[in-house]
Amino acid sequence: MVGIAVHGGAGRWAQDRSEEAGEGVRAAAETGRRSLVEGEPALAAAIAAVATLEDNPVFNAGTGASLTLDGQAELDAGVMDGRGLTTGNVAALAGVRHPVAVARAVMEVSGHALLAGEGASRFARALGFAAYNPITQTVCERWRRLRAELESGARGPAALRELLRRHPELGGDTVGAVACDGSGNLAAATSTGGTMLKLPGRVGDSPLPGAGTYADRHCAVSATGHGELMIRFGTARAVADRVRSGQAPQQAVTEVLDTMAEQVGDEVGLIAVDPAGRLGIAHRTPAMPHATASGKGIAEARFSRD
Ligand code: ASP
Repeated sequence: MVGIAVHGGAGRWAQDRSEEAGEGVRAAAETGRRSLVEGEPALAAAIAAVATLEDNPVFNAGTGASLTLDGQAELDAGVMDGRGLTTGNVAALAGVRHPVAVARAVMEVSGHALLAGEGASRFARALGFAAYNPITQTVCERWRRLRAELESGARGPAALRELLRRHPELGGDTVGAVACDGSGNLAAATSTGGTMLKLPGRVGDSPLPGAGTYADRHCAVSATGHGELMIRFGTARAVADRVRSGQAPQQAVTEVLDTMAEQVGDEVGLIAVDPAGRLGIAHRTPAMPHATASGKGIAEARFSRD
């Protein structure tokens, strides 16, 4: 059965943004569902859902993405098609509207799996992706406030770590989707501006296959949360391995979070789907707006575990 799950980022979402976030993920899941019902492959559905979220300034991806320490938007995105273990990814990409679409182009025409920085931007321009400024006024104001807070205290990496500890909401709001199409094929897509005030050049888990995004014939996974943990643990691949060994997606995401908690930390959220359209959804952060849909319609849009 066709099915899709989308997330809008695991983190500490302020309650007053819950409605917008819930509406955003619901609309994205509906976009993906329609695409699946029209017979599009899982990859197209997952990408369509993520592109919808990239256009929504509520989320930290595309328009409204978080900024680096020096005030730039450096965007990460990844896609993976479970049919042939094909993947395309962009890291620290500047100046495009839909990083997920550039990631798809990397997969389909570049012959590479990951393009980063200036090279990724040049690739996007060469393929006709228009120059676009994803930085919004709201994000700029938040960046100025936090940057001032950082500068008023101690300097250096320790000060940044302390600021991030005081403001856990600086992580989060990454977007992702996993989809299963009518032929049982699976795909995953993830897109993010990364963590607010990250060092220029920092790359998170989203564009690293097996860490933040993964799809094979058994399972598709998109992760969100503290990216360095996913990179160390190989989170998305760990979920898929469990499903390949016979676990249901829900059990797999729950057990991976349990194991991560023991080994590296679990400020993480996960969505997964298998070829039967069974979903797995779990997060250990206060909130993770997410929505699910099947051929019959939107089944669920939720904000937090409470
Ligand atoms: N995982 C993303 C990153 O570390 C952030 C997030 O999911 O909110 O770049």
